[in-house]
Parts: sequence; C-alpha cells; structure tokens
Amino acid sequence: KVVGVPKEIKDREGRVALQPDGVHELIHHGHEVVVQSGAGKTAGFSDGEYERAGARLVGSAGEVFGASDLIVKVKEPIPSEYPLFREGHELFTYLHLAADRELTEFLLERKVNSVAYETVEDKDGSLPLLTPMSEVAGRMATQAAAHCLESPQGGAGILMGGVPGTPAARVTIVGGGVVGFEAAKIAVGMRAIVRVLDINPKRLAYLGDVFGGTVDLVVPNRARTASYVAESDVVIGAVLVAGAKAPKLISREMIASMRPGSVAVDVAIDQGGCIETARPTTHSEPTFVEEGVVHYCVANIPGAVARTSTLALTSVTLPYLLKIAARGVEGAAREDGSLLRGLSTLGGELVSAPVARAHELPF
Ligand code: NAD
Repeated sequence: KVVGVPKEIKDREGRVALQPDGVHELIHHGHEVVVQSGAGKTAGFSDGEYERAGARLVGSAGEVFGASDLIVKVKEPIPSEYPLFREGHELFTYLHLAADRELTEFLLERKVNSVAYETVEDKDGSLPLLTPMSEVAGRMATQAAAHCLESPQGGAGILMGGVPGTPAARVTIVGGGVVGFEAAKIAVGMRAIVRVLDINPKRLAYLGDVFGGTVDLVVPNRARTASYVAESDVVIGAVLVAGAKAPKLISREMIASMRPGSVAVDVAIDQGGCIETARPTTHSEPTFVEEGVVHYCVANIPGAVARTSTLALTSVTLPYLLKIAARGVEGAAREDGSLLRGLSTLGGELVSAPVARAHELPF
C-alpha cells in the first residue's frame, strides 16, 4: 500500500498524522509513504527527518492524494480537500461525521472507505484514539488556569500553590473522567487544594485509591456545587454525557458568586460547555471576562501543544494504521473489533449506526 500524509490545513491545526518513526515502521512492513513537504513543521518534524526515515516528499496535497491508496490525517477533510479524493481511497482520521452531514454525503458519494479515530472503541467502551487528547486537554486545563490567575491576565494575582505561609488556590473540578483526572493530577502537583465532583461513585472510589486523600472527592448536587464554586479560585468543567450536549452544571449565578479575578476553564466547551457563562474561544484569543471571572474556553486545547499532541496521537494510531495498511479498511475491521466499531463509510454505504441516526440516513 502507498500511505499518504498531507499537511493539515484546518485553521491553526499544528499536528501531523504520522511521525518519522511511523514512516520507518510502515516501510519496514513493505509499504510506501508519501509525505507533503512541510507537513510535520509545526509539530517539530523536518522534511529531512521524513526523508531519512524513507518517505517520498512531494510539494502538494494533490500529489499526496494522487500517489496514495490510504490517506492518514488528523482533522476531518474540509471542502477544499474534497476534490482530491477518488473512488476507493481509504481514509483514517478524526471525522466527527455525526456533526457534518455534508462530509458524510461526500464520503458516501465518492465511495471513500473511512475509519474515524474518535469512534474506534475497545471492548470496555473506552475510546483509545480519543483518550490521549483528553489527557493533554486535562493537563493543559490546569496549566491554563494557573496562567489566568496571574494579574497580567486579569486574574486575582494568586500563585496556584502559594508559598509556605500563604493559602494555596482552591480548585474545583467538575467531572472526574479522563480530563478531570489529569487536571487534578497537575493541580495536586502544583500544590493547590483540589476537589473533584463526579456523579459516578465508582469513579470517585477509583480516584480515591489513586490520590490517597490528597484530593477531596464528592458526589455533587446543585446546592453543594454552588457552595464549592463560591469558595473556589478555579473551577474546571470536564463532564461528558456520551453522545449528548454537556449539561449546564455551573450557572451564571454560581460564577458571579466567585471572587473577582477567579478563573473558569470549560474543557467541555467542544460539547456545548457545562458552564453557563462559557462560549468557545481560540488560541489567539483564549480568554474573556464575564461576571468578573476570567474564562478560558478553547475548543481545541491540544492544538497549543502540537508536538506533544502529535506524539501522543500517533503512538496510539500507528498500530491501527499498520493493520489498515496491511489488510485495507474492510479486512482490518473484520479482524479487529475496535476498528470495526470505528468503521464509518464503506463502498458508498454508511456503516456507523450513530452517524446514520444523527442524519436519519439509511444504515
Ligand atoms: P470522560 O467520559 O472520561 O469523563 C466525563 C466524566 O464526567 C465522567 O466521569 C462522568 O461520570 C462525569 N459526569 C457526567 N455527568 C456529570 C455530572 N452531571 N456531574 C458530575 N460529573 C458528571 O470524558 P473526558 O474524556 O474526560 O472528556 C470530558 C470533556 O472534555 C468532554 O466534553 C470532551 O469532549 C472534552 N474535551 C475537550 C477538549 C478541548 O480541547 N476543549 C479536548 C478533549 C476533551
């Protein structure tokens, strides 16, 4: 198979779908790799590194698509990339088809065989190709909060962990899943006073075992959440209700009850947000102040650390990419249940039940 790696062109996307080590691995397994010149630049990989690993460098996305059987990307194709696809192309990338009817119809009509990273699912229901990005976002959430607490950012001028003799910041994390767990680890590491709220007692029990008393763990209700938020310097929203919009757990009133210069980070903003006062922001303008509280609500947090995110993403995608390169999308999905669950379109047929449901398309 010829595997093609185009440069990502979505606004401010700095990740790349394959690192030079991955090129090496694919070539070892008898495949060819075509990489668009500059594809790895923002993630810190030069054309020379790809070439030394054995890739063929080409100047344009058109040449990558023209020469390849299997396209590996990070973000979903955008309309300017549609004409590059031909019938029978295989595609392995984040797709988010349930939110994009136009792309779904395009992949069906062009008979592109696709597997979406975000729907590859292990037997236990976990999403192995989504988890690393949540880990990055969780750790970044606390780092961003610490920065926002600084006076020049409009914050209250509080050092997250304080110093001996001063109080540390109080951090309340709503949702103790992948994002919340990582956010809590960094907050504990910074010596903040940390509390995690989650409705799943089993999850809290697990966090209790791991943190061993350094984190306060609570099953929330409206009144409790309100009083915890009011006394916090930082609140981090990290809930997820699978397949649904995030519930608005933190009201405007709760945010207004925080001391001026406090910080609200809504990581769940990509699912609509769990903080009433939150609206999506970008890396160029990451924050705004509402009710006296500095809000950080960047919808694609991992984009700010393109190299780490690339390393984290490509190390989990590569084993699947090797299977797809060896057997094709259909053959690989037949052999690997996790890939089967991630299969989206095949020969013009929609094979993902949730996407079919979202668009009321035949399945
Ligand atoms: P997860 O499923 O691992 O964790 C979600 C947690 O929320 C679960 O433990 C669940 O029990 C808890 N929860 C659900 N309803 C709750 C409620 N009412 N009160 C308290 N807790 C509740 O999900 P995750 O991977 O940690 O992702 C969390 C959010 O972060 C998602 O919305 C995800 O899309 C988002 N995310 C955003 C970015 C970004 O760049 N902004 C990046 C990665 C993930």
